[in-house]
Amino acid sequence: MMKICIACGMPMENPADFAMGDPDKDFCVHCARQDGTMQSYEEKLDSLANFIVRTQGLDKQAARDAAKGMMAQLPAWKK
Ligand SMILES: [Zn+2]
Repeated sequence: MMKICIACGMPMENPADFAMGDPDKDFCVHCARQDGTMQSYEEKLDSLANFIVRTQGLDKQAARDAAKGMMAQLPAWKK
């Protein structure tokens, strides 16, 4: 069964997509730290903003705003 990463929304279909290759985890390999715990909001915001800068060519501030909007939709960051 496919799961959606709670922190970035990425579909996780294969064990390799999951943090530590563990399908019981609710977040993906991109949202995990080296030790297998989930990244903090600030860490994820930073990496997502950098990704948006690379892929969409936005400036850093616009990318951070866009990342905040995306993250607000995801279960891990809903207040
Ligand atoms: Zn993720």
